[in-house]
Amino acid sequence: VYKSSTNLLDIVNDILDISKIEAGSITLEKVGFDFKDTIAGIAESMAPLASAKGVSLTYNFKELNIPYILGDPLRVSRIVTNLVSNAIKYTNAGNVSLSIDRKIISKGEKIELYCEIKDSGIGIPENKLDTIFEKFTQADVSTTRKFGGTGLGLAITKELVELMDGEIGVNSEIDKGSVFWFRIPFSVTDMLDSTTKRKTEQRKNKRISTLIPAEKANILIAEDHLLNQDFIKRLLLSMGFKNFHVVTNGLLVTKAYEKDNYDLILMDCHMPERNGYEATQYIRQLEKETEKNIPIIAMTADAMKGTQEKCIKAGMDDYISKPVDSVELKEIMEQWIIFSKKKPMNKKVPQKKEGEKNAHVNMALLEKYADTPDEMANFIKLLIEQSAESIDVMANNCEEGDVASWAQAAHKLKGGIGMAGASRLEALCGHAQGMGDTPKKEKEEILNKILTEFALVKISLKKYSS
Ligand code: ADP
Repeated sequence: VYKSSTNLLDIVNDILDISKIEAGSITLEKVGFDFKDTIAGIAESMAPLASAKGVSLTYNFKELNIPYILGDPLRVSRIVTNLVSNAIKYTNAGNVSLSIDRKIISKGEKIELYCEIKDSGIGIPENKLDTIFEKFTQADVSTTRKFGGTGLGLAITKELVELMDGEIGVNSEIDKGSVFWFRIPFSVTDMLDSTTKRKTEQRKNKRISTLIPAEKANILIAEDHLLNQDFIKRLLLSMGFKNFHVVTNGLLVTKAYEKDNYDLILMDCHMPERNGYEATQYIRQLEKETEKNIPIIAMTADAMKGTQEKCIKAGMDDYISKPVDSVELKEIMEQWIIFSKKKPMNKKVPQKKEGEKNAHVNMALLEKYADTPDEMANFIKLLIEQSAESIDVMANNCEEGDVASWAQAAHKLKGGIGMAGASRLEALCGHAQGMGDTPKKEKEEILNKILTEFALVKISLKKYSS
């Protein structure tokens, strides 16, 4: 049951990914990163997977000098991970090796990076070489039975490479092995994560003259999810804030705004009664009569294109994506708040380690939300309770259905388990959220998938908290 449900979920996730790409709703990031480091990190984390099969995984580009590049490190990692995991999957003995090379397109400005993943595996018949990049295509009808898989991985990989204006290809010989390669042009940068730095500069330039010390500022947090509330409160405490108040829907935000004096609002976008956009518009309308212009920072879990523009259009001053990163939040808040020199609670969101690839949650990410084992146990307990509650609401609204209740519960579940990095469950919830008027039977089907994955997530979480 475990194996079948995992396979099914892989299929669902791949389909979601490919449809997102095809719908044009993937926006590539542009941050400065170290390509060589990224690839080496992937090789190192996948080495145990290879050695478990008796296959060695090697790379030899230590000496190569590659400048920092501007691009989407997560998507580049996805491309390489897909190709390396295929190489390991389709190699029963021998070696998988990774190599990279560079070609300067215009000095100091553009560079083309070439990456090759070579294996000594089963190889691909010549007449299949052209089609394996197509959706649902496998070289051999027995592939799924022998090796599992969906035939979507290479299609997703190709789409991602092409989104980056690159090219991908393969050479292979049956029983000798395969060489998958891709080349992508990148702009060169002299700074890591320079986009973030540029954003900070822009923000500093925008800074207004009256800054308030964190200890004195009064913050209004609008957030309906208990887990997020708990996390944001602890985050603010660690940043030196002493006064904050939490409300759970957009209507209460506007009431609190009218009643008390706040210096800044952290606004969740999706909330019951009145959402974050509407609440902001309402506040901006009220402010027309006054001199006030309270800073509003949107907290959004929605990575889709257009969300950020929507926040600004509604009258918000800035936005941060969930899970909220304390360094980024501090950078944003520095437009209005003065912080003492104390270090913030944590740094960048850790990425899922490849060793934990099959785990259903991202433990490294979870650690961000708690400092002690007790805090972690409480957090996990709350996470499980809240998620179960949302699933109940979904189950009760499958029928003739209050479409909004179903979608809100799916969104809430997605937000909660997103904090644990349960990406499969997150993807399922994202899909469920958009199902609106779909017939009961289909809703029940996705709910069953959600229940199966939730059971697996719970097992992983409980293992961690015990
Ligand atoms: P999946 O691995 O899920 O079947 P992919 O899209 O990743 O789907 O790959 C498509 C097909 O290409 C595979 O089914 C397999 O037949 C072939 N293939 C991919 N990578 C390799 C490789 N390194 N060696 C041999 N065959 C491969």
